Amino acid sequence: MATKHTHHYLPAQLQWSSVESSFLSLPIPPSHNHPHQPPPFLKLQPPKSYPSPTPYPPTGSANPTNTPIYAPHPTSLNNVPSCIHSASTILTSPGDIAIIGSGLSGMLTLYHILSTAPAHSRPNVMLFEARELCSGATARNGGHAKVKIATLVGKESGGERDKMQAYVAGVIQELERIVVAEGLGEECEFEVRRSLDVFLHEGECEKMKGVYDAAILKGEYWARNIDFVGADEAEKASGVKGAVGAFICPAASFWPYKLATGILEVLIRRFPEHINVQTNTLVTSLEHGILHTPRGALHSEKIVLATNAWTAGLVPSFNGTITPVKGMACHIAPSHPHPVFPHLKTTYNIYFPPGADYLNPRPDGSIVVGGGAWLFPSKDSWYNNFNDAQRFASDVENHWRDGYMQNTFLGWEDSGAGPDSVWVGIMGSTDDGMPHVGRVPEDEYKGVWMLAGFNGGGMALIATAAKAVAKMVLEDLGFEDVKDEFGLLEGMGTSGRRLNKDGRGGVE
Ligand SMILES: Cc1cc2nc3c(=O)[nH]c(=O)nc-3n(C[C@H](O)[C@H](O)[C@H](O)COP(=O)(O)OP(=O)(O)OC[C@H]3O[C@@H](n4cnc5c(N)ncnc54)[C@H](O)[C@@H]3O)c2cc1C
Repeated sequence: MATKHTHHYLPAQLQWSSVESSFLSLPIPPSHNHPHQPPPFLKLQPPKSYPSPTPYPPTGSANPTNTPIYAPHPTSLNNVPSCIHSASTILTSPGDIAIIGSGLSGMLTLYHILSTAPAHSRPNVMLFEARELCSGATARNGGHAKVKIATLVGKESGGERDKMQAYVAGVIQELERIVVAEGLGEECEFEVRRSLDVFLHEGECEKMKGVYDAAILKGEYWARNIDFVGADEAEKASGVKGAVGAFICPAASFWPYKLATGILEVLIRRFPEHINVQTNTLVTSLEHGILHTPRGALHSEKIVLATNAWTAGLVPSFNGTITPVKGMACHIAPSHPHPVFPHLKTTYNIYFPPGADYLNPRPDGSIVVGGGAWLFPSKDSWYNNFNDAQRFASDVENHWRDGYMQNTFLGWEDSGAGPDSVWVGIMGSTDDGMPHVGRVPEDEYKGVWMLAGFNGGGMALIATAAKAVAKMVLEDLGFEDVKDEFGLLEGMGTSGRRLNKDGRGGVE
């Protein structure tokens, strides 16, 4: 049974659900800043408690249900209210576009469509979200954008490593460009910073170092952007107890939910007559340009699927090609109000012998930590699992209790640090580790584009893909038409060939 949540922590004039126009217009709060600065963000109190999970998923369905968020990021997930419109809202203009999914993929696609279209032909865009605004993986992730050393080393050639690293560097630049242009940096804690890949196991470190050293000798480009600290200095340089080596690379960190919802707020302010947001509106099926929802069906000439893990719910041939996979993250804060020193200034991937965690320290000294995947009990509990309302068992979550920071970092022994929130989210996993970007590769989905299947790395992949998809949609192009212009990676293009026809690993 779908559950609708009302938010009481907004002043009445900012309750989007109270707006009844067919195209959303949000009253703008007066700016307390310089007149040229964007108005301040909606500062809201976190909810006192999180709603209980409801049964999930519906049998045999790959769609997201309207489950409440169980354990969001450190503060209120729903700090932008719902904006539910009446079922009578219908797309009429032949130029209109529908975007399904309000995570970073959907939001950045919307941003580029509205920002790049000429004013005289700017389309009206409807954004559909099955649940609360931005309630999928984007709201639950660690906000860590980088390509880690293990991913680079896993590539087959130096050329592939160069391309992957260059692509991610482009994404970081693009994210920075947007947050600076839109004045979102402080609110979403955006920072371009250094990141450490820290190894605690000599053999694993040596494997990475072997590939890295060979690349340095050959003058491969990717290795020039990475430094290495060996066993003698690794502990001191990283602060990680027992570190035997650390690779240092560029990264960006930010609060993805705040970035995604901040972008929407900017767009609503700038193009109020061109945006219509329909939250709590599951698109149940697509049929020759018709979107079916429990609140009626409507036609859109162009449709973008930004549905990530849930894509097979709308395009069944992606069953087994983009597979929902559950992941876990937490927020760790010191038990007392003072910052803990040493204050962590870089982000981390820490390769414990059983597997890797990543850590994204926030400006206030608290840390978002994700990973722990080697502890997930059985394949059923995390693989092919859509249920982001049900957390892992407490023994899995205990990975981050019991003195995680105290045991891992020099100087944190007396910090009293522990998780104040642990949550799960659903990623869209692909066999080849690449997302699917471009026209949906089947005739019956003419006029439908997609960007989905970002595995555990959407923050490092989405920004450029979304810009490219916006151009494809506006100019009726495909992946091959724009891939060079945007520097898209070869393997990102979706195609019939990449569809896993046997449905292996998919929803039964
Ligand atoms: C715990 C966790 C930690 C992570 N940490 C990181 C990290 O640190 N760095 C990183 O790069 N990546 C990380 N990721 C991965 C990253 O979160 C994703 O790659 C990224 O958020 C995908 O964004 P998206 O917009 O494509 O999908 P989502 O944010 O999942 O958005 C898809 C949206 O579509 C909606 N939707 C789906 N189907 C329908 C439908 N039929 N009708 C209407 N709405 C629909 C969903 O409700 C959802 O809101 C993490 C993921 C998890 C789960």
